Amino acid sequence: MDEAEPFTYDGGIVSPGETRNVRYTVSETYLGDAVRMPVTIVNGERPGPTVFLTAAAHGDELNGIEVVREVAHEWDHDGLAGTLVCLPVLNVPAFLAQERYLPIYDRDLNRSFPGDPDSTSAKRMAHEIFRNFLAPCDVGLDFHTSTRGRTNMLHVRADMDDPEVARVANAFASNVIISSGGPSGSLRRELSDSGVPTITIEMGEAHRFQRPLIDSALESVRSVLAEFGLRSSDTVRWPGWRTVIDDTGEKTWIRADSGGLVDMHYHRGDLVYEDDVICTITNPFKTENTLMRAPFTGLLVGILENPLVYPGNPLCHLVRLDDRTQRAIEWNRRADDDDW
Ligand SMILES: [Zn+2]
Repeated sequence: MDEAEPFTYDGGIVSPGETRNVRYTVSETYLGDAVRMPVTIVNGERPGPTVFLTAAAHGDELNGIEVVREVAHEWDHDGLAGTLVCLPVLNVPAFLAQERYLPIYDRDLNRSFPGDPDSTSAKRMAHEIFRNFLAPCDVGLDFHTSTRGRTNMLHVRADMDDPEVARVANAFASNVIISSGGPSGSLRRELSDSGVPTITIEMGEAHRFQRPLIDSALESVRSVLAEFGLRSSDTVRWPGWRTVIDDTGEKTWIRADSGGLVDMHYHRGDLVYEDDVICTITNPFKTENTLMRAPFTGLLVGILENPLVYPGNPLCHLVRLDDRTQRAIEWNRRADDDDW
């Protein structure tokens, strides 16, 4: 069997059996101080693949931070076969400002990969992160939430046409997988294209720790690590039901037909049937109601949280289900109800 290998980055080597917390300089402030990103590298005593876990590429998306921190600092890593590279806060300036994008120029760090050492501040930062901590890995998990003011059910975004990526996505064991290559410059796309199969996990809303979602994601991380042989104590999960939505599958952001205040009648993750009234938009006098109906039977993958809309603002993200998945969901929901 191969020997376990050290993990190296600019300025450091982490030996097998060693865990190291690093504050890695990715940029400088206006005052010339270092902008330092927290990194934890857990190098197992036994050989195996290297897996990265990243969060807060968008600075206000917090759920994933707690997932990454718990994996790094609360799990028992005795017997780990491989290495975990844990980056709970990728976008430090945006995190400090509690904004989605890098402050000042509003650059999206998650459109700046793989980065460039001679380009914008975002691309320089992305370059440092990419080359030191992401490109040397074998598998990647990148945690996100919905944009501020909306919320997502926990789901995976992955290029299911790529068998290596599909292996990671299936092992994560979420009910819903939305298949796409992902936008150019996104961490997931650029890593997958350079041979590190990477998925995005969307979970909940910005500015929150949402414990049930965090716990569920942690179970799924165990499942991925089991699939790739890092932890023999865990097993690969099956989520009970699964739907994979590809480019041909029907999915739509339902947008407001009038401005007003929104009364949402469903929660994220709910099944709605064709013609169900998903939400009602009212004027300030409650004299006019606009009923927004489901154009087809499907799953509410995302919904708005902030109940104020202009015409054209998104209300919910609805994806069509095939009959088999619909029946599986109905059966699972009934089983859940029986538990009470
Ligand atoms: Zn995000």
